[in-house]
Amino acid sequence: MLWNTIGHENLINHLEQVIAADKISHAYIFYGPEHVGKTTCALDLARAVNCTNQTTISCGECQQCLRIIKEVHADIHVLSPERSDNKTSIGISDIRDVLHSSNMKPYEGSYRVTIIDEAECMTEEASNALLKTLEEPPDQNLFFLITSQESKLLSTIKSRCQLLYFSNITKDIVREYLSSNYSLDPQKLELVTSLSRGRLGWAIRAMRDEAVLNSRAASLELFWELHRNGLDSGFNISENMASDYFKNPKSIFNTLEHWHTLFRDIMIVKHVDNIYVHNIDVYEQIEEMSKKYLINNLIDNISLILNASEQLKANVMPRLVLDNLVLKLHKN
Ligand SMILES: [Zn+2]
Repeated sequence: MLWNTIGHENLINHLEQVIAADKISHAYIFYGPEHVGKTTCALDLARAVNCTNQTTISCGECQQCLRIIKEVHADIHVLSPERSDNKTSIGISDIRDVLHSSNMKPYEGSYRVTIIDEAECMTEEASNALLKTLEEPPDQNLFFLITSQESKLLSTIKSRCQLLYFSNITKDIVREYLSSNYSLDPQKLELVTSLSRGRLGWAIRAMRDEAVLNSRAASLELFWELHRNGLDSGFNISENMASDYFKNPKSIFNTLEHWHTLFRDIMIVKHVDNIYVHNIDVYEQIEEMSKKYLINNLIDNISLILNASEQLKANVMPRLVLDNLVLKLHKN
């Protein structure tokens, strides 16, 4: 079988056995960190169950495989907040048509496959509608739920699905993939590998879109500024971030994540071993900062950032959350 999924050998072996034994479950939850290959694997599996090649499952060459690869297959539906009506959640109107068509036979393949990306963003109404379908799963219909926050899914949904956990893959696999698919100087290869933290999807995005590394550079700049200058400048930063939040919430979450990894790296340099540092291009600054911080303050700062992120997701006013964060980071 030709998998596009990189790494995750045990999972792939398991799925190959399931397919060979014709024991595919009607619903799976692909869960684990973001950008590690869950959606790629779901699409691979959608191909595998529809491939018409007798000798190789998911050959990548038959009509079924090709139509899925080109994203024109009539039986493969991908739902996500981004593709939804309101762009932030998956509501009943987004899921209703798919659930309705699950009562009919697939149009062109052996299985209709519904992939629900960021499944934790389903509204309660959408979740309950899906649950109803999962309780009496229609034939020839498969549901693949993808999430990095499986604790937010209804436990009743989870109990009706097989769970597949995707972990971060190893640095070596990321490095090898990047070096055989992109021409990179050794320094950049090492940097992107290290920053990816075993999330190949992130590394690929960083290679294809320079905005990924540019926005990281901007986040780092804010971090240094926060430390260099006083609280006035800190509140300027939080004000700008709060107003950007409404235009591009993801960029604010990314900034907070970069700050998190910086504090984590400072902690690593202070107490463990520098081979575990992710932000290797700013090692000197990190080492310098590690002298100024006590371990408890670093732990506090990391949890402050995580809390701020959670509060933003819970729709607390961004200005309030970010001012509060900057103030507390300043105190620490
Ligand atoms: Zn095929």
